[in-house]
Amino acid sequence: MIPYGRQSIDDDDIEAVEAVLRSDWLTQGPAIARFETAVAQAAAVPFAVAVSSATAALHLACLAMDVGPGDMVWTSPNTFVASANCARYCGARVDFVDIDPATLNMSVAALADKLERTQRSGGLMPKLVIPVHFAGQSCPMAEFAALADRYGFRLLEDASHAIGASYKGAPVGNCNHSEATIFSFHPVKIVTTGEGGVVVTKSQALFERLLRLRTHGITRERALMQGESHGPWYYQQVELGFNYRMTDIQAALGASQMHRLQTFVTRRRVLVERYRAALAHTLVHVQGVHSDADPSWHLFVVRVPAAQRREIFESLRAADIGVNVHYIPVHTQPDFMALGFRDGMFPEAERYYAEAISMPLYASLSFAEQDVCIAALKEAIKESGA
Ligand SMILES: *Cc1c(COP(=O)(O)O)cnc(C)c1O
Repeated sequence: MIPYGRQSIDDDDIEAVEAVLRSDWLTQGPAIARFETAVAQAAAVPFAVAVSSATAALHLACLAMDVGPGDMVWTSPNTFVASANCARYCGARVDFVDIDPATLNMSVAALADKLERTQRSGGLMPKLVIPVHFAGQSCPMAEFAALADRYGFRLLEDASHAIGASYKGAPVGNCNHSEATIFSFHPVKIVTTGEGGVVVTKSQALFERLLRLRTHGITRERALMQGESHGPWYYQQVELGFNYRMTDIQAALGASQMHRLQTFVTRRRVLVERYRAALAHTLVHVQGVHSDADPSWHLFVVRVPAAQRREIFESLRAADIGVNVHYIPVHTQPDFMALGFRDGMFPEAERYYAEAISMPLYASLSFAEQDVCIAALKEAIKESGA
């Protein structure tokens, strides 16, 4: 089976992990700082906080941005459930903004329209909007930031797919148009730590709050404590946090992998160009790329006619090609339907979902394997009569 995504582990990665196992530190030791520095440098941002997953990163970033009960958070329906669940973990409500059918990212026009309608009707305005850089292509962050200024909401970027991507010539994660950005290091993503996430920010205040929330809301800083210190052992819990720490074992893998970020992204770009060239004169639609964006390509998705999607998908699986679908619109999940969401509420995300197939894409995919995937896709389309 050629999977849709997989990690690339080399001998340096294995040695880096082994070195931690032979050292004094298994959790939160020197590898954490090395990994955080590598991610901060790649994103051109001063602060990075490594945590146990991108889901934890989203949760902590929402908390650090003061999302709580009574607040509203908006995100894209074309994402993994974690981008929406983080608001619910904080007791906030969540709603969605439909996608641009070309880029498959949250639509600027749909966001502007929903803001205007919500304000006019006296509805609950969002405190936070979480754009998702789908497949590794940056959202139009400058346009979102202009709306954030006008309507007074905050921005958190879900860049789980987009480490190594750039927007307007600068790295995704630089937080020039948002307060914080999160990355995922799950094995199917571009760089892995096994499980892991990072929040990056330019804000020192947000950084310090994230560090505290990662470890139970505990501080050892005198200035933040109430009353007198009891001695050098003393700490205080000053707010409710979590154990969302990453281990040094994971961070050592991540730090080693980060040396190859550019290699990984370059290879993904080459593979995507090959896919696009091979599918140019077929009925397959590929994702549009905005001129401001240089994607890192976590995913390569194609759109085929909805009536034949299932048959094409099953033929590819039968040919041992591990295609997948990203994403089932979040609002159509039963646990979200129970909150009042309905089919038809975000038609572009639903239309895209009905046509979507994710083709294999990862750094170690060979051209020969990719050619097998392309030929199988063309054959499956032909057989389906589409
Ligand atoms: C993978 C992913 C997440 C969650 O990442 P984990 O590290 O698995 O918690 C969140 N958002 C998006 C868009 C993702 O693709």
